[in-house]
Amino acid sequence: MPSFVIQEKCDGCKGGEKTACMYICPNDLMVLDPNAMKAYNQEPDQCWECFSCVKICPTQAIEVRGYADFVPLGSSIMPMMGTEDVMWTCKFRNGLVKRFKFPIRTTSEGAANSYDDLKGKDIESALLSTQEADGVELPKPQTI
Ligand code: SF4
Ligand code: SF4
Repeated sequence: MPSFVIQEKCDGCKGGEKTACMYICPNDLMVLDPNAMKAYNQEPDQCWECFSCVKICPTQAIEVRGYADFVPLGSSIMPMMGTEDVMWTCKFRNGLVKRFKFPIRTTSEGAANSYDDLKGKDIESALLSTQEADGVELPKPQTI
């Protein structure tokens, strides 16, 4: 189910030029109603349910109802971003609450270089970039 904004919790990011959810949405779906100072998803059908807006919202005003294999039927899930991890709180329909904490990337925005780790590696190799050759030569991929 696409993202939706809980209007009572949204403060319009306190009137900034671009709200956090507008900034982060990869599909430019979030917009701010300047009169009400509340954000909303302008085209729910296009939502990828990527949770980016949910994670970045400073007031936890956005929710996405995840698929049942991820969030059991009738439950809700809410991430809370920390500086080194993200805490997911899952509330089950019987009232049970479970929390899961996962580490997050701590490099500053724009600083990650995914090719750094590949320096000196044979990029034609059939091995994964993190895989050691271990003396065994695997066949190169063949083009048909
Ligand atoms: S990020 Fe959250 S508080 Fe800010 S405008 Fe969007 S929904 Fe509202
Ligand atoms: S869940 Fe992802 S695609 Fe959907 S509105 Fe939020 S940021 Fe955009």
